[in-house]
Amino acid sequence: MSLADIKCSGVRSGISPAAIGRLLIFAVSLILMSLSQASSAPLEARDYKMAGDATHMRVVMNFDREPEPKWFLLRGPHRLVIDLGQTKFTLDAKELKARGLVTNVRYGQLDEETSRLILTSKGPFTIEKLDVLQNEDTPGYRLVIDMAAASERQFEEALGIQAQTTGSTETTPTTDRLGKAAAPHNKRFTVVIDPGHGGIDGGAEGLNGTVEKSITLAFALELRAKLAQSGPYNVYMTRERDQFLRLDERVRIAREHEADLFISIHADTIRLKGIRGATVYTLSDRASDAEAQALADRENLSDQLAGIEIEEEKQEVADILVDLIRRETHGFSMSFARSLIGELESTVGLINNPHRFAGFRVLKAPDVPSVLVELGYLSNPEDEEQLRDPDWRGKAADSIANAVAAFAAAKMAAGG
Ligand code: ZN
Repeated sequence: MSLADIKCSGVRSGISPAAIGRLLIFAVSLILMSLSQASSAPLEARDYKMAGDATHMRVVMNFDREPEPKWFLLRGPHRLVIDLGQTKFTLDAKELKARGLVTNVRYGQLDEETSRLILTSKGPFTIEKLDVLQNEDTPGYRLVIDMAAASERQFEEALGIQAQTTGSTETTPTTDRLGKAAAPHNKRFTVVIDPGHGGIDGGAEGLNGTVEKSITLAFALELRAKLAQSGPYNVYMTRERDQFLRLDERVRIAREHEADLFISIHADTIRLKGIRGATVYTLSDRASDAEAQALADRENLSDQLAGIEIEEEKQEVADILVDLIRRETHGFSMSFARSLIGELESTVGLINNPHRFAGFRVLKAPDVPSVLVELGYLSNPEDEEQLRDPDWRGKAADSIANAVAAFAAAKMAAGG
């Protein structure tokens, strides 16, 4: 049968032109309906992933086509809310489990047009980035969110901006980056003291049974009292009791308080029993010596004692701004370390080469000058004796308070 035959047979079977017209209209309307259905079909969200720690988190979620997220912040608890068009979520429950800064992830349909994703945070945070990007290798788009632990003041500031702009929502990413923390505001010089170890992580143990976590806490409490007497500072502690704290949680607490200085207190053991004396450590990718490297390695194992898997999450993006801040912070850490050594030298004994450096995770806040002080070494009986002596500890605390005063004065003179 040829094409011509079909046409002829159609006409012959008596279908009128009007009927054909009706059929055409029906066909066109069918096509239109299916088109409109396609555009109102829900977005498909899948492959939710988040990685990071208590100070920084990156969240990525894929979409079949370009989403138009509107986001805003809520307090009590601190939350990020992202509204999307109607969305079908296909997410792996395992990926939604609390980790790092994010304690809870929820999603669902708000009304016929809106679906909502809610991330609850451990504490105040800011959004460093919230972008929709076209996938390079696969079809579709992805939503990328960078959250950073921040202070209550910074969170409130972001809330304020959001209220001013579009009522309750905004679609454009803010530029509320780390650098903004330096915006002028009336704040007292803030010190965060970090008593090393705690809870399940006892730290080192001396020959006469002294446990590092207890000595660091006792000393930190004494230092806090000293600082409270000596100057107009805000002083906070990462822990005030025998409690386990992750290393990144200690860093998050420093950021939450917008610390101007972070001092981590330790009294470890060292391989060579003859070695003794106070040591001040600053952060470096490369260790100053083998002992410093070994010490940093041991300290960084602290999280594993509590069975925590460490995601060595290298920040994928080399951020120039963060890099600049990090470099400036490093300069401040170095100058505080030097002045601290000058003070300790005259009151308590120092190790040879008392300023050392290594890759301590607890010193990694990019915007908080940080040092780790080994008051002495529990592997050395004389050091252990001193660490147990309240008079000696008083002198050491005085020296640290003097160095803090000098550092705070220099910082205030330079304009905060
Ligand atoms: Zn330690």
